[in-house]
Amino acid sequence: MSEKAGDARLEMETLVSLSKRRGFVFQSSEIYGGLGGFWDYGPLGVELKNNIKRAWWKAVVQERDDIVGLDASILMNPRVWVASGHVDTFADPMVDCRECKKRFRADDLQGRVAAGVHGHVAEGGVIRCPECGGELTEPRMFNLMFKTFVGPVEDQASTAYLRPETAQGMFANFDNVLTATRRKLPFGMAQIGKAFRNEITPGNFIFRDREFEQMEIEYFVKPGTDEEWHQHWVEARRNWYLGLGIREENLRVRRLDKDELAHYAKDTYEVEYLFPMGWSELEGIANRTDFDLRRHTEFSGRQLTYYDEGSGEHIVPYVIEPSAGVDRCFLAVLFDSYHEETVRGEKRVLLRLHPSLAPVKVAVLPLSRHESLVPPARKVWELLRPHWMTQYDDSQSIGRRYRRQDEVGTPCCVTIDFDTLEDQAVTIRERDSMDQVRVPTAGLVEALRERLPNV
Ligand SMILES: [Zn+2]
Repeated sequence: MSEKAGDARLEMETLVSLSKRRGFVFQSSEIYGGLGGFWDYGPLGVELKNNIKRAWWKAVVQERDDIVGLDASILMNPRVWVASGHVDTFADPMVDCRECKKRFRADDLQGRVAAGVHGHVAEGGVIRCPECGGELTEPRMFNLMFKTFVGPVEDQASTAYLRPETAQGMFANFDNVLTATRRKLPFGMAQIGKAFRNEITPGNFIFRDREFEQMEIEYFVKPGTDEEWHQHWVEARRNWYLGLGIREENLRVRRLDKDELAHYAKDTYEVEYLFPMGWSELEGIANRTDFDLRRHTEFSGRQLTYYDEGSGEHIVPYVIEPSAGVDRCFLAVLFDSYHEETVRGEKRVLLRLHPSLAPVKVAVLPLSRHESLVPPARKVWELLRPHWMTQYDDSQSIGRRYRRQDEVGTPCCVTIDFDTLEDQAVTIRERDSMDQVRVPTAGLVEALRERLPNV
């Protein structure tokens, strides 16, 4: 079923297991049996995740002259989601079993019947419950937004939603940001934050979760220039993944068919990665036109327009929205960097992570726990800690420790041995080549910096 080419086929299970064993990703509340579609990022996972977010922020905010950042709240006035269309249209058709009360996606059941799965059709072509054969209700729309209540009273008036996308925080702040920053078109806002969707069928590890993190840009342009900017962003975003070291053969851009478009979109491209379950979306880049600003103008009564000095007119900008998933990017980065090779008859597993993404940049490894090696090794560790994320490891053989660092993608190991006591020098060992080079401790930071550019 996998189309994955190149290396021996890598299963999702291999990464799930590595992630748990080494502290990248744990099942949420695992000691209670977990909760479907929720995951926790462990000590190495949080580093990798932060590094992905930092790389994105650097590329789209710090290095550009036309985008500013934002961090909006997760709960917003519920009218936002009426205006955005989510209250009405962000839903899947569901049927309930009248007997066992189980709930199914109507299109799933239709699919199973079409595929001829046994036992799902009763006489007369009526679809019955696949669990108990009971009678099903008519399809009803089930909204994917999580509901909660704001304040002490749990009623309709206090209902609020956990945001299903970060985008609306940026649209709602359009006028605030424009006024505060006096930007000219085209300009954008960027935001990283949690979003929540009560997916009927979460799955594929952290690919489809119910709580996830988005990295979104809303890029406002003059109507008529939107298609050109759309192309700019498709190219820019594809190049960002390639710049992180994602292999070109595992990345593709696909234009969605008209019937796949969301209710707000005129045109959408997806950046897709070749996961074990096939090509799947990492990022959607949509032309949302002026849909959102017009809807918020209508529902809030506030004019969300831009004064164009050239024409002397107030215009409603179009918006191009590159919307990426942090968790999906995390998964793609793991898949793409995972390698197995045989070294001197033994299997070596390594993550060939881009140095900027590696959770640990440098591992400090005394050759043994011999008491004479402890002071110089700890001194080297202290020297490096202000510069990079480091790890100190003195347990088991040096070979085992190199393997452990390879497996989590640490680009450089620094080894302190008995010669260090005489020559004040240490050995740098590189992850990918396994090359070793001796450098004086006094020049260690510089030598590592050469190997970890822009990190
Ligand atoms: Zn049933």
